[in-house]
Amino acid sequence: MILNKNYLNLQDSYLFVTIEQKVSAFQRTHPDARIIRLGIGDVTRPLAPAVVEAMKNAAAEMSAAKTFRGYRSDRGYEFLREAIGGYYAAKGVALDISEIFISDGAKSDAGNILDIFAAENRALIPDPVYPVYVDTNVMAGRDIFYLSGNESNGFLPLPDASQKADIIYLCSPNNPTGAVYDRAQLKNWVDYARENDAIILFDAAYEIFAGGANLPSSIYQIPGAEECAIEFCSFSKTAGFTGVRCGYTIVPLKLKRKVDGADIAVNDLWLRRQTTKFNGVSYITQRGAEAVFSQEGFRQVQENIAYYQENAKIIAAALTDLNIWFTGGEHSPYVWLKCPDDRPDKCPGDRSSWDFFDRLLTTAHVVGTPGAGFGASGEGYFRLSAFGERDDMIEAARRIKENINIW
Ligand code: PLP
Repeated sequence: MILNKNYLNLQDSYLFVTIEQKVSAFQRTHPDARIIRLGIGDVTRPLAPAVVEAMKNAAAEMSAAKTFRGYRSDRGYEFLREAIGGYYAAKGVALDISEIFISDGAKSDAGNILDIFAAENRALIPDPVYPVYVDTNVMAGRDIFYLSGNESNGFLPLPDASQKADIIYLCSPNNPTGAVYDRAQLKNWVDYARENDAIILFDAAYEIFAGGANLPSSIYQIPGAEECAIEFCSFSKTAGFTGVRCGYTIVPLKLKRKVDGADIAVNDLWLRRQTTKFNGVSYITQRGAEAVFSQEGFRQVQENIAYYQENAKIIAAALTDLNIWFTGGEHSPYVWLKCPDDRPDKCPGDRSSWDFFDRLLTTAHVVGTPGAGFGASGEGYFRLSAFGERDDMIEAARRIKENINIW
């Protein structure tokens, strides 16, 4: 028996453990400090009442023999796939419901999709990045190359024609940077994927934050993407399902690749993979997710999104006042800022995002996430999350402004 040695190549994920250790150590020595946590990527507002009602009704159905449901291990219930299809139609994207697969979240599917791709494919991953894309490819022993996000490209790297990629990861609105690709930029990616016969894995977990902004919230808003892209989406950030668990993956019927001269539909492979290894998402959860798209449910969900967006605005406004460079904060719950660099004695050369973490914690009692935790290009930058309470945002913005001079 031989273990998968690729796992030994994974970087230890110290990020949130180290943050917790530092915060606990500070709290022990400063028990009166009221620490504000803007480091989290988890939602803080409860489920919308329409979702809860739908889940209660579904639970009642499960208690009666006539309406009880058991296994359902294919693409998911039609009622939810039809509701998602309607949501995409409103974005100008026509989907057949057989293109939609219900999942237990975007994280699982973003990792599991690699099952249907050969190990010798080369993965292109923008940096900084949601770490799941990197780790799942390392586990598979796949060759990875990184494309650097930085201030000059606004953390929205574009394809490098000299590099050949097979699998391309894009996340927009982005975690951790909050940056959002516009249509022209995404078209660049679609053109590049088509030229390279590559497949884009488009993570749209934060798509609802781009809604109403004339920014693309689905890769399929770019013509031709249905022949070269798979899209992952989630109810986690849209509707507070981080603990409930539901998402969906779109695999267009037009997405095909040749195997031994024959056209193979990627949708068929993914269906085969899912029916073999996945037994679906609970009926109760899928009914709750369906309610997100009801008129009342969607209004309630959007209220929460608007709340987070207003939080982000408060943080962004403070940084603008302080003349600190940042991305995000508008069509995203994340604000990605350049660490103020006025203590070169403390961190010569590259600014250290951990150094900034310590300064922010010990002076303003605010916790964020050091950019270095999201990849090499994240060093010198810092993520603040707007998932939190309004009063905390106002107070954090005040403390950041008050302490800026001593950083
Ligand atoms: N994709 C991105 C970019 C994320 O930031 C997250 C969670 O933070 C996820 C996917 C996970 O989504 P889910 O809760 O649906 O697994």
